[in-house]
Amino acid sequence: MKDLREPFLGLKDINPNEYFKNIKTPCYMIDEAMIIKDCEILKSVSDRTGAKILLAEKCFSNFDLYDVIRNYLAGTEASGLYEARLGSEEMPGKEVHVFSAAYRDDEFEEILKYADHIIFNSVSQLKKFGKLAKEHNKEIGLRINPEFSTQIGHEIYDPCSSLSRLGVTINSFEHEMTDELINMLDGIHFHTLCQQNSDDLENTLNVVLDKFGKYFNNLKWINFGGGHHITRSDYDIERLIRCINLVKNKYNVDIYLEPGEAVVLNAGYVLTRVLDSFDKNGMNFLIVDTSAACHFPDVLEMPFLPPLYNADLKGNDILYRIGCPTCLTGDVIGNYKFKNKINVGDLLIFGDMALYTTCKNNTFNGMPLPDIYVMKKDKKIIKLTNFGYNDFKMRLGKLR
Ligand SMILES: *Cc1c(COP(=O)(O)O)cnc(C)c1O
Repeated sequence: MKDLREPFLGLKDINPNEYFKNIKTPCYMIDEAMIIKDCEILKSVSDRTGAKILLAEKCFSNFDLYDVIRNYLAGTEASGLYEARLGSEEMPGKEVHVFSAAYRDDEFEEILKYADHIIFNSVSQLKKFGKLAKEHNKEIGLRINPEFSTQIGHEIYDPCSSLSRLGVTINSFEHEMTDELINMLDGIHFHTLCQQNSDDLENTLNVVLDKFGKYFNNLKWINFGGGHHITRSDYDIERLIRCINLVKNKYNVDIYLEPGEAVVLNAGYVLTRVLDSFDKNGMNFLIVDTSAACHFPDVLEMPFLPPLYNADLKGNDILYRIGCPTCLTGDVIGNYKFKNKINVGDLLIFGDMALYTTCKNNTFNGMPLPDIYVMKKDKKIIKLTNFGYNDFKMRLGKLR
């Protein structure tokens, strides 16, 4: 069971109620010191193995923190043109890798301006764009699908689930890849994990090497994708290092990892205040000024119960069901127990909220976008954004 205090390690030296007293809610609070803590762990893996680690921007792209992250990682991994451009602009001089399930004709040349490594999801995309990328001196790779599922219960996050469109299977590889195409490849990419430990990586690698290994002899690199929960306290880093060294030495390649979550694990909070409190059918309800559907949709998509500061999940304390102001019935964060009564106006703090939040939010129901703050490593608080009504309106039509 995950230690629910871990997400609040970054708050251990402050009294959040005092410290955040004047901050308008809802907001995201990114914790720079915790990002540094995560990045130091990742850098130790790089230092010990030579593996290069990239930030998967789709998970976290608050570029004001890129200046910190660049000290530890080799660059960024993008999902398409915009993230590639962001990585190139905001982490200049570092590597920019891009993977997209399909590239657009009208964007590919622009992507070539920003990215140095381009990964294709299918043999047809490799055939269509591979030559052009090579002419621009890019390194190109193909994403493979080992068809080896190591996760159960959430197919939406499992690239190896049946009928997944992601990655080339061994069957397609052997039917469609000519020697010429194989020789064009600088690298191979696979991404099959999600919040997983290195035993799942090891098992996956066995299958990858068994099925595809005979094609790996002339490669420059192999990219193990993301989903490695390297910075979690129970992660087996020694096994990861053995996996990296094994592949690196066997095929004489560079190894890339592109985690998102591990870079910013437990490095952010959502601050929210209680708008209403009432009893209904024997349940205590709290309505807070944030929305799961709008501000941290993974809570509903995955789904999971996000850690809440000072809440207790056991014992005989007071049970509250915490819901949100939108009209969506299911926009409920979850049921939590507290030692003390919670009142209207109280501050609540959800933890582990740097990942898949600020880059995934929306203004459904006209919910405001929460402003984004960073708590610097000296605990000084800086506001990064100033969202308001126009940010809601501009996405819907022409501003007059
Ligand atoms: C999502 C994704 C990542 C990052 O995954 P995390 O679970 O955030 O570590 C890396 N690479 C690819 C191709 C992805 O789709």
